Amino acid sequence: MTGQKPEYFNMDIEPLLNTPEMRKMQESKLRSTVQFFYEHVPFDRERMDKAGVKPEDIRSFEDLANAIPVVGQADYREVFKGIGNDMFEAYRILFGEERLKDMHLLTTTSGTTGIPTPYPVFHKSAEAMGEIFGRIGWRLGFGDGDRLAVGFGLSMHAAGTPHLYWFKKIKGLTILPIGAEVGTERILSFLRLFRANILSCTPSLALHLIERAPEVLGEPVKNLNLKTLLLGAEPGAGIPEVRRRLEGEYGAEVYDVGAGYGVSCNHPDYQGMHWIADDHCYYELIDPETHKPVPMEHGATGLAVFTPLEPRATIFFANLRFTINDIHQVFTEPCPCGKTGFRYKIVGRADDMLKVKGVPVYPAALQGVINDFVPRVTGAFRIILEVPPPRVVPPLKIKVEYGEATGKGDLAALEKEILEKMHALHKVRPSITWVKPNTLERAVKKTQLFEKAYED
Ligand SMILES: [Zn+2]
Repeated sequence: MTGQKPEYFNMDIEPLLNTPEMRKMQESKLRSTVQFFYEHVPFDRERMDKAGVKPEDIRSFEDLANAIPVVGQADYREVFKGIGNDMFEAYRILFGEERLKDMHLLTTTSGTTGIPTPYPVFHKSAEAMGEIFGRIGWRLGFGDGDRLAVGFGLSMHAAGTPHLYWFKKIKGLTILPIGAEVGTERILSFLRLFRANILSCTPSLALHLIERAPEVLGEPVKNLNLKTLLLGAEPGAGIPEVRRRLEGEYGAEVYDVGAGYGVSCNHPDYQGMHWIADDHCYYELIDPETHKPVPMEHGATGLAVFTPLEPRATIFFANLRFTINDIHQVFTEPCPCGKTGFRYKIVGRADDMLKVKGVPVYPAALQGVINDFVPRVTGAFRIILEVPPPRVVPPLKIKVEYGEATGKGDLAALEKEILEKMHALHKVRPSITWVKPNTLERAVKKTQLFEKAYED
């Protein structure tokens, strides 16, 4: 033993990510996976029956894509509705009795759109989570003496409580379950009191803490000496302007995690998240409108779809061909950072997509441009929808907060610069309404970027 740390947490699997050998390994699991869902999960069995396919008809991933339509949260809600929101009956249908007996923890989405989507953690999933997040923590250099503060919601929230399993296999790492619910004041105090050096939370919260720290702690967030921000649940760390701002304000490395099993790397230019779980989950892209397969080529964009390959140990995605409605762009060529795994960037949510004169526009893209103008703006903004999305009657209308030190006389020039950048990058030229700093509500979980004027 030289005492040198291996390159990866799992030296049997991670060197093989995104290789033909790995593809063979995935194919060898497909048969038993499909068989499991057909035999044990009423929801998937019904989907297959409806499509007129039997497990033995599915011999390849192409067969799978052709035979079984994708499902998502909306399909879950249909199931809830059909049985009068009897949730335990819903779990039996969606996950199957076999796995229900092994269910250890039940978390959900934040439920901002009605009944929250359940994310079950089976006993075997807890093990798998330790493995997958072991890979993530290893890549980020977590270990001895690190204290990770959980700033995600802890009340039933899929991103919060499972942290207790996620980093179980990273020796020397201590978890501080603070939780978004306690509010920014206590989050900031706990971070300082217990000397956390890693913070996991939404980008919205990380941005909000920058504004609150001087008032609550009497000093900027930089003085907390965090070394790493691990961000997820909404776009942010992947938006270059937001990442740059967070890195500058915190003096920390900023990583993006989630929307599947991936984590970004420390390359100075954001390269997307490395997908680190080929052995656990099959990833594919489809066209968001036609649902036809999109080949996994370098630079391809589509709706991301997940099929678990270890059905008894699923993490978040518990059915065949499940989507969380995220549009991804993938990069299959090797990353300049040298680490394995194809990469994916979140372009936006399929249901957040707006169409302005036929051009698709994602709120996250506009957020990126606006954050590049901080401190002349605060970074907070809203998109005003006058008709239900995705249609927009041009021009697209946005409300933007100007910065504390920005005078009324500076706004015309600032507006011109913002619009030129939005047009150059995203082919859209919105009409801006300026509002005073701190007019728009700040969120500790996810920021709602739309104001639905048509609902008033
Ligand atoms: Zn990389």
